[in-house]
Amino acid sequence: MIPPDTVQKILDATRIEEVVSEFVSLHRRGANYMGCCPFHNEKTPSFSVSPSRGIFKCFGCGEAGNAVHFLMKHEHFSYPDALRFLANKYGIEIKEKELTDEERQAQTERDTLFHVSEFAQKHFADLLYNNEDGRNIGLAYFYERQLNDDIIKKFGLGYCLDEWEAFTKYALAQGYSEDALVKSGLSIKKEENEKRLYDRFRGRVMFPIFNASGRVLGFSGRVLSSEKTAAKYVNSPDSEIYNKSNTLYGIFQAKNAIARQDLCFLVEGNIDVISMHQSGLENTVASCGTSLTREQIRMIKRYTRNVTLMYDGDPPGIKAAIRAIDLLLGEGMKVRVVLFPDNDDPDSYAKKYGSEQIQSFVKENALDFVHFKTGILLKDAGKDPLKISQAASEMVNTIALVGDLMERTESVRECSSIMRIPEETMAQSVAKAILRNKQKAYEEEQKTSGTAPQETSQPPADETNTEPTTPLTTNSGNQFLQSFYPCEEQEKKIIEILLNHGNSTIKKPAKDENDNDIFEEYYVAALVIGDILNDNIKFDNPLYQSIFDEYATFLQQGSLPHDQHFVNHPKEEVRMLAATLLSHPYTLSESWLKKHNISTPSPSDPNVIANDVHDSILNLKMKKLEQKITEAKEQLKTTTGDEDIIILLGQIKQYEAVRMALGRELNRVIM
Ligand SMILES: [Zn+2]
Repeated sequence: MIPPDTVQKILDATRIEEVVSEFVSLHRRGANYMGCCPFHNEKTPSFSVSPSRGIFKCFGCGEAGNAVHFLMKHEHFSYPDALRFLANKYGIEIKEKELTDEERQAQTERDTLFHVSEFAQKHFADLLYNNEDGRNIGLAYFYERQLNDDIIKKFGLGYCLDEWEAFTKYALAQGYSEDALVKSGLSIKKEENEKRLYDRFRGRVMFPIFNASGRVLGFSGRVLSSEKTAAKYVNSPDSEIYNKSNTLYGIFQAKNAIARQDLCFLVEGNIDVISMHQSGLENTVASCGTSLTREQIRMIKRYTRNVTLMYDGDPPGIKAAIRAIDLLLGEGMKVRVVLFPDNDDPDSYAKKYGSEQIQSFVKENALDFVHFKTGILLKDAGKDPLKISQAASEMVNTIALVGDLMERTESVRECSSIMRIPEETMAQSVAKAILRNKQKAYEEEQKTSGTAPQETSQPPADETNTEPTTPLTTNSGNQFLQSFYPCEEQEKKIIEILLNHGNSTIKKPAKDENDNDIFEEYYVAALVIGDILNDNIKFDNPLYQSIFDEYATFLQQGSLPHDQHFVNHPKEEVRMLAATLLSHPYTLSESWLKKHNISTPSPSDPNVIANDVHDSILNLKMKKLEQKITEAKEQLKTTTGDEDIIILLGQIKQYEAVRMALGRELNRVIM
């Protein structure tokens, strides 16, 4: 709860070069500082710090941000903790914001839930060793799973007695309220009006779920009786402190090893996590009680970008792995996969072969996602050309999720070589898929913009992580733009045409030297740019003007920009715009499709493009004229001098005449 003006004060005082140089040795180079990047391995410095802009940027791995981001990334601080670090460094006092009554009550409720959960964990762990049933049933089970006492204690495992209300009664006697017991999910009220509370986890071995800083959030309880009706695992319901989609089982015990090894192993079950830790693979976590979520991935990302999935080799395991790959890549992670053979899971494999064997197995059998997924898809496709084509397009979609250009290029190279598709073809398809994704994201954003903000979910229980989202240049302000720039739609259409069809050719009627009717071929870009420059039309939106100018410069130099020029543009806002405006549906190259006997969709009809170009230019001119007329009429209201009024009226008349002419031309074409 750091007040915004204090945050600003901290940011103002912060000198990025001073912060970074606490961790990285920096050397001055011109206005900037250079050093070896702490986020990837390198011998020659490509890590740059700019004091004037207050940012760092690595030209090797692409990591970039301000001092707060640096601390969050380097020291694994939460956003408020990074600010506190800086406040401390620059001697700025933080007066934590006064809580409102509501906030204080929520805070108290959270505290109460933390306390009762911690109490329960200690109690269950105590029963495991100091109660007869605990030893004979609970501990016996863990021993049978070959877990040793050290690991049982490390994970705080326990046992809940097989009685209806033993725990609840004990907790109430210790002063915990019914309300807290019910809200934490430890006790259940069967009916709303019923007085009696029951133990949720009776007769189960208990796996406490910790947050990253080691507080107990909830439990997962495994049944031991052979009762067929009982669920194998029962988990705490979501509560004020526990939300299963942003919790990772084992993160507290694993986080240091994950950061140290710069690698996280992701397994499917709680017992797999514990078993891996016992085998020395302490960088292992699981997404407990749910399939992998984005929130869980972001949690891992605070410690590493590298994830190796260790899922079962059966069809559900493979399916889960394939889903997880896309999700992980989408969050900027690097993914490898290990599948265990012969129906083994990490736990059973570790037991069969021991810890050295499993460590070397994982090392030798981790496949990068390209090899893993193409292997699965091609095996499934056999020699069926249609299925091979589908496999290729699935791989294209997955590779398109890789955010880093170098990594993506490498993935394309590997995949095209495995699938025997020309690298160029694959690269083009991937580029198109990326554009399509961006388009989709843009449309989604359009749909949701104006409605209530989506992310109203509470912060993860382990941190009061109020990290603001980076103010990326997105299109969410589009509605605003439309009222700000009257010709926004028409201007955008011109840029869209340039980007999509600039290097297509269309035919226009003309006369030869003997006055015969002929058709001349023009590049769309030459036509559009020539026409707009000719009428001396300026774009109101400076972003569009800059793209237009850049395109015009290419033309003046007698060339056309490369397909990918604007998509890979150094300016982020240009890249974003190009990506949203380029909207070709993804297709494999014609020659490849022909080779595999798949019929191709017909390319865009030049006549359609020609009409589109014609209308769009006229629409822009029309809108610009209307704008001028409106402006002149506005001006008329405040003009007093007779002569000035006459000049203005003359101008308006002229504009109206041109507008009539344009209107006629537009109508003719539209009809
Ligand atoms: Zn780097």
